[in-house]
Amino acid sequence: MNTSKSFFTGIASSGDLSGKFDSHLINARTAMEQLLAVSGDRTVANTLTFYDQILTELDAAGSQANLMENVHPEEQMRTTSEQFSQKVSAFGSELSLNRGIYDALTAVDISGADAATIFFVQKTLRDFRLAGVDKDEATRNAIKKIREELVLISQEFSRNIREDKRSVTIMDVNELEGLPQDYIDRHKPNEKGEIILTTDYPDAVPVLTYAKSDTLRKRMYMEFNNRAYPKNMEVLDRLIAKRHELARLLGFENFAACVTADKMVKSGNNASEFIENIASASLQKSQIDYKQLLARKQQDLPSAAEINPWEAGYYAELLKRTEYQFDAQKVRPYFQYKKVQQGILNVMSTLFDVEFKKNGSIPVWHESVECFEMFENGALAGRFYLDMHPRENKYNHAAQFGICNGVAGKQIPEAALICNFPGGVEGDPGLMEHNDVETFFHEFGHLLHHLFAGRQPWMGLSGISCEWDFVEVPSQLLEEWAWDAPTLQTFATHYQTNEPIPGELVAQMKRADEFGKGLFIRQQMFYAKLSLSCYDRNPALVDTNALAKELRERYTPYKYIEGTHFQTSFGHLDGYSAIYYTYMWSLVIEKDFFSQFDKTNIMNSTIAKKYRDLVLARGGSKPADSMVKEFLGRDFNYDAWKSWLEK
Ligand SMILES: [Zn+2]
Repeated sequence: MNTSKSFFTGIASSGDLSGKFDSHLINARTAMEQLLAVSGDRTVANTLTFYDQILTELDAAGSQANLMENVHPEEQMRTTSEQFSQKVSAFGSELSLNRGIYDALTAVDISGADAATIFFVQKTLRDFRLAGVDKDEATRNAIKKIREELVLISQEFSRNIREDKRSVTIMDVNELEGLPQDYIDRHKPNEKGEIILTTDYPDAVPVLTYAKSDTLRKRMYMEFNNRAYPKNMEVLDRLIAKRHELARLLGFENFAACVTADKMVKSGNNASEFIENIASASLQKSQIDYKQLLARKQQDLPSAAEINPWEAGYYAELLKRTEYQFDAQKVRPYFQYKKVQQGILNVMSTLFDVEFKKNGSIPVWHESVECFEMFENGALAGRFYLDMHPRENKYNHAAQFGICNGVAGKQIPEAALICNFPGGVEGDPGLMEHNDVETFFHEFGHLLHHLFAGRQPWMGLSGISCEWDFVEVPSQLLEEWAWDAPTLQTFATHYQTNEPIPGELVAQMKRADEFGKGLFIRQQMFYAKLSLSCYDRNPALVDTNALAKELRERYTPYKYIEGTHFQTSFGHLDGYSAIYYTYMWSLVIEKDFFSQFDKTNIMNSTIAKKYRDLVLARGGSKPADSMVKEFLGRDFNYDAWKSWLEK
């Protein structure tokens, strides 16, 4: 196994990049021909091995092109990568409809194979059928054509979000009243006296949370909720219609039915029922939350009768300060980016018994990116890149990007965290919100899942290849560590005095965090229902503006504001399509998992290692249901989630 070369070794130009992508596709094509050329009995060795080789090449080309189109600073590199993403998808779609490959895999004798191999073959054959391989040739051709069109539409949708950088310009520094001093220092007026605040998270979120000026918050809210508008209105309609067309060709009533068929939830109807259950379980709590918020606003404006959406974050923050004696700005000095990064690496290293070492000789795509390697019992077990601060034309959310899956004895897993945290600018201390710290833990949960699942015998079972509605369990589980005082005190030290964050401050922060869970859950159900409703009916009946309005007002207490178009920048409508419910589904399982940990010492690694071995390391080698059952000793239930909600 050659581990000295990383995926980015030798990539200096877009020519190098396309050469590398090309070679993956050529290798995949060769493995495909070798598989089809086999004569005589079909065996694991002469058929499944070649099939897994195809998957390995496609995974590498697809993941790397996806990463590069989202992060590379040079436009030419991003364009080349976008074009390759299209080629890889076309190849994948051709493969999924290839009758010869399907027949060959069906004929493989698995009678003597191990459980993981049997599961791999069964899962693969099911996926082939879900992709339409058993349809007639004309239908298969039509499916292939739609898939190709869909890749282009998806890329257009996310490109519009990425590239539409909006801003609010103010002329008077006094309008920044309430914002942290380092924010004000970072936003000095330009030569024309303008202060420009963009819709990037580090610019926009503090405005919506802290700015005293109602006008400024409202202006930011309007810009933020119009990103990629009007461009994405029509793109979204096209995306929804094309996906419906695809689902119909595959024999499903609609796309929601199609995309849930291989999930834990099993059907669109079950997903809808789940959303309603969660929404009604949280209704009362959300009403109590809203009343508290309104009462806080009435202290300032006695005649106030409602909370506007651009006021929700601001009054929640004030409420936490007055009712819960917690000021979010008091914790920021303890969360300096550099210390948080090192701290999270140390915590995870202790918890899961691994070592992380920076490797400065591995090439990266931007000078600010750092490469780390994970060692287990002294042996290299994975590699990852941290690209953590905003820059122009970079993906503007936070996510884990796979780079390649690991395969036992063949290759180590690689991945990247792409985030937009403060820091990385000369002279800026890089003070994070606690919310950012939580996001860091979250994304690290995905990263560890990818890395620990990188030693499966087959690429097709490796990495984050479990059911999609299980995927947010590992990430949400790690968020719990962001709330544990002894854990935080290992790294959250004041950026000027080095004093560790006081336990009482963390306790106050936790108490304040209990506020608003009802509102949060109802907001999540708005997103989940919007995502499902775009795809569970005839697209002729889908008016995304009307849905955004109706569902916002059904699930949240806030009015829909005319002139906003939240849906045009809701990237999950593309990536997650109908299945945004998965976050809450995963949270229910996560709360059950966390109930297994000892709350007085969550750094105890015995249970963490059990979790690592029975869940994370398994990747997609078993149904998620059975991994859950093995870890818990029973099926999951709502008890832990409910007691968390009612706490
Ligand atoms: Zn996540």
